[in-house]
Amino acid sequence: MSTIITPHTDTRMAEIIHKVRSGERLSLEDGVYLYESEDILTIGQLANEANLRKNGKKVYFIENMSLYFTNVCEAHCAFCNFRKDEGEEGSYTLSGPEMVEYVKQHIHPGVREFHIVGGHNNHVPFQYYVDSLKALNEAFPEVTLKAYTAAEIDFFTRISGMNVREVLMKLREAGLQSLTGGGAEILSDEYRKKMRVNKANVDRYLEVHRTAHELGMRTHTTMLYGSIETYEDRVNHMIQIRELQDETNGFQVFIPLSMQPKSKNASIMRRNSAYEDLKTIAISRLMLDNIDHIKAYFINIGTQLTQMALTFGASDVHGTILKEKISHAAGALTPEGLTRKELVWLVKGAGRIPVERDTFYNEIKVYE
Ligand code: SF4
Repeated sequence: MSTIITPHTDTRMAEIIHKVRSGERLSLEDGVYLYESEDILTIGQLANEANLRKNGKKVYFIENMSLYFTNVCEAHCAFCNFRKDEGEEGSYTLSGPEMVEYVKQHIHPGVREFHIVGGHNNHVPFQYYVDSLKALNEAFPEVTLKAYTAAEIDFFTRISGMNVREVLMKLREAGLQSLTGGGAEILSDEYRKKMRVNKANVDRYLEVHRTAHELGMRTHTTMLYGSIETYEDRVNHMIQIRELQDETNGFQVFIPLSMQPKSKNASIMRRNSAYEDLKTIAISRLMLDNIDHIKAYFINIGTQLTQMALTFGASDVHGTILKEKISHAAGALTPEGLTRKELVWLVKGAGRIPVERDTFYNEIKVYE
């Protein structure tokens, strides 16, 4: 393992390097210092070392399909271009059988996960969301259902009158096996107020994942960065995730989501810079010492930057997806999905070893 970044003339950075190499946990101040530093190569190399220690050169991906049952949403998050009001042009709500039909027309051999998210549609009952999963599970029993965000679970408690545990158990009976990571945005109630994130608050987001982990589910988690939040907000977000992971060990992967620029309501006119994206991936790797994987999400940062991210601490490139809708509604300029062959090429092109996985990171095939 390379040690070219020591000795370091920046004594504060040298302290952080020492901490990471000796397995000492980074503090809020350390994380903010890294964000404020211009020394992206040292940060990247340190994150690369941390990742190589955990994962070697393996980089994971899955054959999956993203599905969106409805885009009707009662919430009005300032950054969202996906949501519609009921009856608005372009709004839709698919029944279980309609979704099954859609999947039959588009699925290809090898798909082992449905990634399912959507709007908080209060024009249909909770049973609709249960039946949607049941229909997919009955039609495609071999495909894992990774469905709904913690914010959607919180919404279901409101429309059903059930508590988080009861909602999760009901969905699990219908086939739910894992939760998606969305809805975290930035884990700060102040941020949520300013960005009109009128859905699960910080405590609730964490409570839903905690309960899912207690029920034996392993879940994903995210951070949507690049709008009004401070560096301190971002690092504090990571620390809250890290603390819950200490308690439950239920998160499989952390996914930094780069804000897309077409979010007119939030006045976000520009994309994050490649510099900011790589730094965020690297700092996530360094702060989250207890989560196995950091994901480089090609949908939001592009395929070439994803390749770079693999030497800045990332060890997962998500999956085939087929047709992504949420980030593309917000102006993503990237492909809506990639084939298995393209993902293998992407990872190999970065000098890493592609590994096809299932939802739970069991290895299906190593592409040496
Ligand atoms: S981000 Fe999700 S919850 Fe917020 S408005 Fe969009 S669809 Fe609704």
